[in-house]
Amino acid sequence: MPTDGLTPAQRQAVTHAGGPLLVLGGPGTGKTRALIARFQWLVDEGAPPESVLALTFSTPAADALRVRIEDAIDRPYEELSVCTVHGLCARLLRDEAAEARLDPFAQPVTPADRLAMLLERIDELTLRRHDLRGNPAALLAGVIDRIDRLKEELVTAEEYAAWAAEASRSGQEREFAGLYRAHDRMLAERGALDFGDLLLTAHRLLRDNARVRARAAERHAHLLVDEYQDLNLAQVETVGLLARGSATAVFAADPEQSILRFRGAAFKNVEALDAPTVRLERSFRCHRRILDAAGAKVDGESGGDVAFWRANNERAQAQAVAADIERRIVREGLRPDEVAVLVRSVRNEGQEVAVALEERAVPFRLVGAAAFFQRAEIRDVLAWLRLLSDPGDAGAVVRALARPPVELRSVDLARCIQISRRRKLDMVSALVAATESPQLPPESRERILHFLRLHKAGAGQLDTVRPDLFVQRLIERLGLRRQQLFAAQADVVERLVNLAKLSELATQYVRRSPQATAREFARYIAAVAEAGLREEEASVAGAAPGVQVMAMHTAKGREFEAVYVLGLQSARMPGARRRTFEPIPDALLHEELPAESRAAHVAEMRRLLHVAMTRARSRLVLAYPERSEAGAIMQPSPFVEEARTAVGGTWEQREEELFGPAESLHAAARALRGEVLDAVSAVGGRLGELRLDTDLDVSHAIVRYLELLKLGALIQRPAGQSVEETLPAINARLGQGLSAEQREVFESSTLDDFLLGADSDDRRRASALAARSEPSLEAFLPRRGAGLVLSASDVDTYLTCPLKYKFARVFRIPQEPTVNQRFGILVHQVLERYHAVGGESKTLAELLGLLEAGWRRGGFGDSDEERQLRAKAIEALTRYHERFQSEPADPVWLERAFAFRLGDHLVRGRVDRVDRLPDGGYELIDYKTGRPKSAAQLKSDVQLSLYAVGAREAWQLDAAQQAYYYVLDDAKVPVERSSEDRDWVTDTVLEVADGIMGQGFEPTPSYAACSVCDYRIVCPAAER
Ligand code: SF4
Repeated sequence: MPTDGLTPAQRQAVTHAGGPLLVLGGPGTGKTRALIARFQWLVDEGAPPESVLALTFSTPAADALRVRIEDAIDRPYEELSVCTVHGLCARLLRDEAAEARLDPFAQPVTPADRLAMLLERIDELTLRRHDLRGNPAALLAGVIDRIDRLKEELVTAEEYAAWAAEASRSGQEREFAGLYRAHDRMLAERGALDFGDLLLTAHRLLRDNARVRARAAERHAHLLVDEYQDLNLAQVETVGLLARGSATAVFAADPEQSILRFRGAAFKNVEALDAPTVRLERSFRCHRRILDAAGAKVDGESGGDVAFWRANNERAQAQAVAADIERRIVREGLRPDEVAVLVRSVRNEGQEVAVALEERAVPFRLVGAAAFFQRAEIRDVLAWLRLLSDPGDAGAVVRALARPPVELRSVDLARCIQISRRRKLDMVSALVAATESPQLPPESRERILHFLRLHKAGAGQLDTVRPDLFVQRLIERLGLRRQQLFAAQADVVERLVNLAKLSELATQYVRRSPQATAREFARYIAAVAEAGLREEEASVAGAAPGVQVMAMHTAKGREFEAVYVLGLQSARMPGARRRTFEPIPDALLHEELPAESRAAHVAEMRRLLHVAMTRARSRLVLAYPERSEAGAIMQPSPFVEEARTAVGGTWEQREEELFGPAESLHAAARALRGEVLDAVSAVGGRLGELRLDTDLDVSHAIVRYLELLKLGALIQRPAGQSVEETLPAINARLGQGLSAEQREVFESSTLDDFLLGADSDDRRRASALAARSEPSLEAFLPRRGAGLVLSASDVDTYLTCPLKYKFARVFRIPQEPTVNQRFGILVHQVLERYHAVGGESKTLAELLGLLEAGWRRGGFGDSDEERQLRAKAIEALTRYHERFQSEPADPVWLERAFAFRLGDHLVRGRVDRVDRLPDGGYELIDYKTGRPKSAAQLKSDVQLSLYAVGAREAWQLDAAQQAYYYVLDDAKVPVERSSEDRDWVTDTVLEVADGIMGQGFEPTPSYAACSVCDYRIVCPAAER
């Protein structure tokens, strides 16, 4: 029963009978759970699953919600509507392209795309009154941000321009009006919509077109909205239009957690909603003490641990967090993915935490906006792209030298930098000079030569090779992908997926700018990374289980066993209000909002911290550094002081660890250098005094100096030798010329104990790291509940070669689609659109017009191969049209989806076309653009048989016939199937699922499979 285990208030929300309902509840009170249970209840009561629309605030939240709802629903269905408001608008505009007068092939563009567009055409923009500060990418990213804000508040470019034209407006506002218009004009020229346009257009369509509104209402009788408090005006209005047509609408909200609403209008949405209200009063997530610290107004289970840390500085703060997490993982068995470290900015404090966690070999991942560009492997490739396009980029060269595959020792790195400075050479030229230097050991010289070889190969192709190929070759040349491919660790998989994503970004860039060089791509991607843009395409599905380091606002909707919230000094929490120019002038607002004020800013920051604190189930640490980088004393946030008072907590001091992991020798040398200098002046000053202990002071000073030498020798010891192995020989050497007194001081020093202890810690960590093999790829399997989610193509891929399945679906290495694959997709899309608007009434010119529009959008070029394909497509579509007109068929569904449970597994698919036959039966048709196969060759084909099972399960439709339609050859090949065949198909799916669950990924190479496999370049089995 969906209502089992729910509180009476939740049950009331779940079984609400009609009209709108508002569900209010604090953190962890089960609002989302109530929405999921309501979805299930509606389905159990007879509502088709497709008739329930569930909306939430972000794509990851929508993905998580969909998985939970899919788990809860047992009944087969076509396709669940669980998405963001943007996602809903995109679908609505696709379905209603004709009514919206939109190009049916239009794709929404991301902020990164728009930044690239503005950067490419910056000469057409007037930027006299905007301060570029030498960084146009950052300024244009700010412009894009402001345009997004305006669109969210339903302010169009025209409205803005009319307002800015008034006499009292500033020149900067007028200039911005021009930028807004130019931005929209450039998008329109490309036939593209940004996310704001999606909302504005869908809202206008729903508002002004009764037919569209009626169709939307018919499709979605029930509406569920999560995190309603954070919807912006355009979203609220759009959802409102949908809700008016639906039979029931349930909105879940918590104004105390509103952190996204413009001008901190936290209560606006909730207050404006005229609906009966249910209140959820008990938190199932946070323990009492955490709720008290966060000032939450709900009840919770007693207990919970809240600590307050005052760290010496940011590094000490990060080290303390890493040490505490390591201890809890080792001693208490806490899972790393049960821990979150929340910071204001992943780009800043997040890096410090990442370094500290890495030092302790604690698995972690940086999450959230721009985190993709902070990933080590992505920074490695970016460093190479930057240094290849600008050899003077010393930062990039240093990173490339320090990281694999070069890994130059830091002391040699320092020498090379010195050569560059002294001889005033760029870093690459300095490296050439360094190879002549007698100071460099042969091994280091070899490493530099390796770097120079890589540099030469890359630089030679920078202006000649296509950006996407260049990036792929660079990744291969650096060995970033190949060396790791067979390791099973989850973080390795994530690294591979990230690298593949970077290649994909290059491919998309090529589609937009087919003539661009790799050098231009390098500049573009560096600008996007620099501007810190959220790269929607860069978010990677599937992630290694590890401690999550994320920005506070990204943690919304998540929960963890232990949460560390850092950077809570008053200068940042609440900190000063950022005074850029007003994002939306009052006169342009279409709603009444609180005025911008310091108090509103403070309240918003308070809610942000409230959200961060209430992500914790049982342990919460609130920390701040008491000294800034410049050494200034900082005060704790007043909110944290309030929390401390609320739970009677005390500040705990956290020091920087000088002998921290991986840094012990360098840190010790740094500390000792200071001591030696102090001793020189102190002891030197006393030499003239008649004191008995002067000789002893001198001995101490000499020994300190010798210890400094000892550290120098240890730092430069041969690679692979431990401190323990090296120390005796160094001590013997240094001890040779000592007096008896000096020897006594030397031998009684505790430095060796420190060093040996740190060395053994390092080794322990290294072996822990090596032993941290996670042979299981469990976290990466496409799970749904106890089983898997599978499609016909998944089954087919696994049957072809299990290793291919692993590359494609477990590692999820996206491959650049070949021209033929893109062509196939285009032909599918054209045929779908042809039939969607009544193929029988369409002329051939209209069909070819669709091809023309899709061809332009698909980024096809003018190569011989592409020209041939186009000619083939025109010929094939002409024949298709003629056949369709002369032998009318009755297509009743296009691209119809199905999903059903098979054992524990969820099987999904989408049928290209379903025709009604003259005798009333149905035929399932799948389009193909490859060479036709004979009926005999299709004997063991799984796809259509699985579709037939899907049609029966999800649509209660027994298909009389199934056929492949080879469009280019105008050949329809029927596939006969008996009921035994259907049993065979379900058995096959279950066997494949067992194989995947058991992680059986042994390759089955064959000429037929490998010759068309996208992964042969990385597959060792293909080398045999
Ligand atoms: S190249 Fe061959 S063996 Fe390797 S994954 Fe592809 S199909 Fe399997």
